[in-house]
Amino acid sequence: MEKSITPARTADAATHLPDGASSGVTSARHQGKHDALTGLSDRCAIRARIDSALQRSRSNKSSTALLLIDINGFKLVNHTHGQEIGDLLLMTVASRLQGQIRQGESAGRLGDNEFVVLCEQVGQAATMSLLAERINDILRQPVVIAGLTLSVTASVGIVVDSDGTQTANDMLRHADAAVQAVKARGDGGWQFFSAHIHEPAQQRMKIASGLSMALARNEFSPHFQAIVVADSGRIVGAELLLRWNPPEGPVSPTVFIPIAEMTGAIIEIGAWVFRQACLAEANWRRRWGEQAPYVSVNVSTRQLNDETLVDMFAAALRETGADPTRLLLEITETALMADIDKNLNVLHRLADLGLRLAIDDFGTGYSSLAQLTRMPVNVLKVDKAFVDNIDKDPESRAVIRAVLSMGRALGLKLVAEGVENSDQQAELCAHGCDFIQGYHFHRPLPEAAFVDTVEREIRDGALGAAIPLHFIIYVSTTPAPMTRPAFDALLKQARSFNRTVGITGCLIYQDCCFMQMLEGKKEVVEALMEKVKLDPRHCDVRTVVEGPARRRAFVDWSMNFLDLTPRPDEPDFTQWQGRAISLTELAEDARTCYKYMTAYMGRS
Ligand code: C2E
Ligand code: MG
Ligand code: MG
Repeated sequence: MEKSITPARTADAATHLPDGASSGVTSARHQGKHDALTGLSDRCAIRARIDSALQRSRSNKSSTALLLIDINGFKLVNHTHGQEIGDLLLMTVASRLQGQIRQGESAGRLGDNEFVVLCEQVGQAATMSLLAERINDILRQPVVIAGLTLSVTASVGIVVDSDGTQTANDMLRHADAAVQAVKARGDGGWQFFSAHIHEPAQQRMKIASGLSMALARNEFSPHFQAIVVADSGRIVGAELLLRWNPPEGPVSPTVFIPIAEMTGAIIEIGAWVFRQACLAEANWRRRWGEQAPYVSVNVSTRQLNDETLVDMFAAALRETGADPTRLLLEITETALMADIDKNLNVLHRLADLGLRLAIDDFGTGYSSLAQLTRMPVNVLKVDKAFVDNIDKDPESRAVIRAVLSMGRALGLKLVAEGVENSDQQAELCAHGCDFIQGYHFHRPLPEAAFVDTVEREIRDGALGAAIPLHFIIYVSTTPAPMTRPAFDALLKQARSFNRTVGITGCLIYQDCCFMQMLEGKKEVVEALMEKVKLDPRHCDVRTVVEGPARRRAFVDWSMNFLDLTPRPDEPDFTQWQGRAISLTELAEDARTCYKYMTAYMGRS
């Protein structure tokens, strides 16, 4: 009979074993091996059950199906709320699965966040998708545990054996390939296994076996991508990016690094990479002295879990003579936060060696300010995804702005990754970003080419990609006093125009006078000034001061606006006023005007 557990009943799971799971304990115990937490069949028992189901289906010419259910984001629940809550969630999942199964079906837990449902005598394979839908629906129902409302989704891989040719291992492997395909789609849901989705799995196997021989065959090489000062473009560091060139052709690190992490090959490869970074640091310092670029090197969390890591890094530093303070270890934010307490201990030991630490791909994970302050971190590398849209998308700009101000408050250096054009560079400079890495300046290069680039820069002087940022302050008068609706219309029009052309600034109105500051690319600011001069709302337009600006005073992609017209609720200044000074008179003193305008920074 189909059972279902309502959220209200699940709430009891906070303190008790869920009912369904406890009945699972009883039945699974009769079978032999069971999972201690959920009472469902464990991996070993599941394998045996699949094998006997396949045997039966061969003799009675029926089909067997296996659904592999992977609970999405489970690690995050464990990490955020603790293992106890995670365990209770798994028990609830087990209970809900038990509630969905019928005669001829059984549920089990493979381990971690993976469950299975085995179905015998399957008539139409398509009915398995209905079961997968049902499972997805029931798991999606919120779970209330210890006062917390959690929601989970699942990725379900389905494999059906209709001719008795598969083994339990095949079924599990194929179901896993289908789960991976669901995950790759990124939308949860379900997927049947087909030979087609098996291709990537085979590809992964091929890469894994190639990787195991790559070091011995000398197929790896370090490339270096320059990291430059945000406004001048001067090279200050370089990130070591690993390249793999097997005889079949190059494979991207985005493909082979995750596989190396999965198989554990990353331990040996990472040791080799760190040694290359040490050799580069020592060589470059011999060549260029203290002016030499620092070396940034990626370290995966799988390496952090290796007990020999710290000793091995210490030995590499000793043997190569590298200066640890000029080496920066990059660890991705998501990996770091997955098990912060465990990683923290290793990070402190690495920092004790003198190594500096960076959080890579920052902004994609979930670090809180509190967590950041606990870590011996020196640098935040802002993920390319936020840089990509900085000149278009207000959300990316907000993230960059927040990261920059948080980094500054914590005394961290900021590196923006993936900068591809001068608009992005100008924006990042305007927000006070320290360093930049991206194709706009340099691509990853083999070491010899990177050395040539630095040599050229030293010979020619710093490259200095100057940012063409310009500011202007002007005053004008209005033909008649401005009404509020007229202000609003002006403001709306100006804001939308300035946002599209990248102008920031501030507009002040008082007693029929405007004072305005505009900042942006020189040609854009000048073009806008021409428009202002032709605008009937501005008379006697007079420039107070203009020139190059190192940074924007106003960070918003639009104008700030201040109406200084006296309000009825403000104090009466008439008896304090010797002589009214208008904005046009104030314009005699450029410095005061500049101070006056920029005092309104951050207001709108
Ligand atoms: P990452 O550490 O975030 O490195 C930055 C990636 O962005 C590099 O990709 C780099 O080539 C690319 N990139 C830099 N500037 C630009 C740009 O302006 N536009 C675009 N489109 N891309 C840009 P790559 O070399 O393919 O490396 C990918 C990832 O592989 C790295 O991301 C890192 O996570 C990992 N990786 C690379 N080498 C190693 C290594 O030795 N060890 C470990 N554990 N991971 C590595
Ligand atoms: Mg990196
Ligand atoms: Mg990165």
